[in-house]
Amino acid sequence: MDATTDGAPADPAAPPHGKPDGARGDERGLGTPLERLPGVGTSRARGLARLGLVTVADALVHFPRDYRDFSGVHAVSDLSPGEHASLAGDVTAVQTRTTAAGRPLLTVRLACRGGSVRARWFNMPFLARRFAVGMRVVIAGVPRRAAGGWEFAHPEIRWLSAGEVEHAAEWLAIYPLTEGVPQTHVRAAVQAALAHGADCAVEAFPATMLAAKGLLPIAEALRQIHLPADRARLDAARRRFVYQELFMLQLALRIHRGRQQARRAAPVSAVDARLDHRIRARFPFEFTAGQRRVAAEIATDMARGEPMNRLLQGDVGSGKTALAVYAMLATVATRVPGDDSAARYQAVLMAPTELLARQHTATVGRLLAGSGVDICLLVGGQPSRERKAAAARIADGRADIVIGTQALLASGVRFARPGLVVIDEQHRFGVLQRALLQQGDGDPHTLVMTATPIPRTIAHAVYGDLDVSLLDELPPGRKPVATYRVEPGQADDWWEFYASKVREGRQGYVIVPAVDDSPRGLASIASMFEQLANGPLEAFRIGLVHGRLKAAEREEVMDRFRSGDFDVLVATSLVEVGIDVPRATLMTIVDAESFGLAQLHQLRGRVARGGVRGICGAIVDDPSAPRPRIDAFVAPTDGFRLAEQDLLLRGAGDLVGTRQSGAPPLFLADLLRDTALVAEARGDALDLFQRDPLLSDPSLGRLRELIENRWGASLGLGR
Ligand code: ADP
Ligand code: MG
Repeated sequence: MDATTDGAPADPAAPPHGKPDGARGDERGLGTPLERLPGVGTSRARGLARLGLVTVADALVHFPRDYRDFSGVHAVSDLSPGEHASLAGDVTAVQTRTTAAGRPLLTVRLACRGGSVRARWFNMPFLARRFAVGMRVVIAGVPRRAAGGWEFAHPEIRWLSAGEVEHAAEWLAIYPLTEGVPQTHVRAAVQAALAHGADCAVEAFPATMLAAKGLLPIAEALRQIHLPADRARLDAARRRFVYQELFMLQLALRIHRGRQQARRAAPVSAVDARLDHRIRARFPFEFTAGQRRVAAEIATDMARGEPMNRLLQGDVGSGKTALAVYAMLATVATRVPGDDSAARYQAVLMAPTELLARQHTATVGRLLAGSGVDICLLVGGQPSRERKAAAARIADGRADIVIGTQALLASGVRFARPGLVVIDEQHRFGVLQRALLQQGDGDPHTLVMTATPIPRTIAHAVYGDLDVSLLDELPPGRKPVATYRVEPGQADDWWEFYASKVREGRQGYVIVPAVDDSPRGLASIASMFEQLANGPLEAFRIGLVHGRLKAAEREEVMDRFRSGDFDVLVATSLVEVGIDVPRATLMTIVDAESFGLAQLHQLRGRVARGGVRGICGAIVDDPSAPRPRIDAFVAPTDGFRLAEQDLLLRGAGDLVGTRQSGAPPLFLADLLRDTALVAEARGDALDLFQRDPLLSDPSLGRLRELIENRWGASLGLGR
């Protein structure tokens, strides 16, 4: 669901998230086409255009995704296979030959500190002319140990002029690429763009603010982010852009919230003791203390008349669904004021997958059986006639509770009286998607539920000013799942153990990391199925479910598994979230290292049950690959700790889904490292908003314009 709305700023010249916005249109040289710059040329420009780099402005804001140490500090004795290194050395031999396959191969031998190494390039015969015996160069790349000693294939190279010594600090920018556009082309274009246009970039911040915050001015920041003179200046440039990005987002959210509150048009749902009792009586269990507390928080929010904006965090299996249902029932029990008919508000529940939406529909349907509440499902996989009928019921208000996927965001779906939006297990629905659901005059209440403990600072950075509820206990009787790491050599033993547990009457999942919609992925899950059905699990009834099946087929397989028709379910990770089959207490995760930690934890949550202790085996494929994730996964720890580690391993940008194709992951990816800056930007944005909520001071003109361009359409901030 890669956030198309999130990634589509209203103004095509407005840079996506994380970009410095210096650069718009044809202002003063920024609009110069790259092909007019020295060293770019028509054919390179065509490649660059595929990366979205057409003008000088585009290149300036094409930020590096990483940097390589190019300092030449390493000695041969420092090398280890597969680990990036940079060496300075003297060229001792240059040789070009043609391989058996007919490819030209250039080999350059270098005498470095502590020994010699070889650098090799295929298909780049022209490069030979640039080397001569006796030259001094710095190479950077990933070495391997070959027959004749250490070898670098296609290293980055820097020629040192006579007498130049390698710097102790030289950082080489590594850019996001696309197929057929080499790093060198992008680097050259960016450098040409810097020379041509860095000084034309328009500063977003007033000079007083730059000074007060110690931020690098835009032109200097652009130069240092692309061509850092040293580590300190790189950090300063990065800090400026991270700060700018966070500050602008915070300000935009603050302005948005200000307008929301000014409207104060959210439904007023007074949940009195009677209604509270009536709602809770619908559940086949007592609410835990945690659920009672969160229900009270939700009830208080919903009675206030301004939109609830609440994030509910709770580990997998902590019982968040009950709270969604609680809030939804409070909503549909609320009469629309001034309406003389008995019209009630509608509640919307958005799930990340169709399967989950269907399961929620079944769960809610069971809970509300006989209540007269109309529950309506809308998902992409429905026949279009069904979908249209659902949309009609949503639009004319017959539907009370609407459950669906992002198909609900499709244009054409209009809600008669939206009172509440619940977003389940989907931290990737950012604030902008939520804004989309806020149609009509008023703003509905919003409840976002996630099993991923987004640290408060990050939650604030991404969701803005929201309140956080925590469900920090599991319903009674839940036990942690016993988790094992299974090395490749132990797979047979594992399957034997797994089979013995199935024989005891447990049901189990086998999760295969197939890419659902690729033929190769499909083949791998099919072959796993064959292997198990003809091997260790041949005694059992096995179901197979994956993303290529039609929704109805998938639903049938799931139903049969749920009803015990199948002992084992081989599935792709689409069972990841929310699926609830009480007897399923076994799980094997194949190629576990290809899943993220949060995902592994979500998967394992499927077999965390009351009564019987769940068992989970994570089979790893490659015994030598580093596996900090798997190590963290099998260590006894709770989901929250785990997800925090996941954040550290993956970077927050990925977690919160702000990372978009084309946008540099660098900046948001370090939200965790930059927590202090998040807090600072937030505080500053609030200050500024309080001083000048309309940003009417002339020195803020550029800032206001940038915010409107970037967020205006999605947050309704336009003039
Ligand atoms: P999650 O927070 O992962 O969405 P669910 O809402 O799916 O968790 O709840 C997991 C399971 O726990 C469900 O089967 C649900 O019926 C059950 N459950 C929820 N709350 C309670 C409770 N208070 N007592 C007993 N079981 C509960
Ligand atoms: Mg759930």
